[in-house]
Amino acid sequence: MNYCDETGKETAFRKKLGMVLARGGHGVQATYINPKGEYPIIIQNSREMRTNQRIHTPREMNIQGIQMGMANSLFFEAHPEWYGLFKGKRSDRINGFPAENYCTSNKDATKELAKNLVQSLIDGPWKNVDIANFWMLDVGTWCECENCKKQGILPTG
Ligand SMILES: [Zn+2]
Repeated sequence: MNYCDETGKETAFRKKLGMVLARGGHGVQATYINPKGEYPIIIQNSREMRTNQRIHTPREMNIQGIQMGMANSLFFEAHPEWYGLFKGKRSDRINGFPAENYCTSNKDATKELAKNLVQSLIDGPWKNVDIANFWMLDVGTWCECENCKKQGILPTG
């Protein structure tokens, strides 16, 4: 009873009753370092950079009409090294089967995932969460890069 989804419309009432609100699961990677998600870019060489250094997504930049001469970038395009190496190639497959977990030996990838997750807990969609379940992909394979192999990986079938 004390373990339920925090996104329901009765969140405040559930908290009042003392329920523990949980969120997370196999979708954490897709939520916080989605390879097909827009990669935030810090605007450089613009008037706005001098007055406001917040991070913008490419979509926000397009909406604001900011011309940077930059193509929209996705996480995977910006940092393919953050994603699982599978049969010699980095993979952006994190949904369905087969799918590859992100490259867990890449400290920058883990830092980005953690940063985005923590921000969500602070003031984002997960701000009411009491327990965050952090699971890797359901039946996901592990990155085959040398550093991940040193950490230990389960053999794939
Ligand atoms: Zn790796």
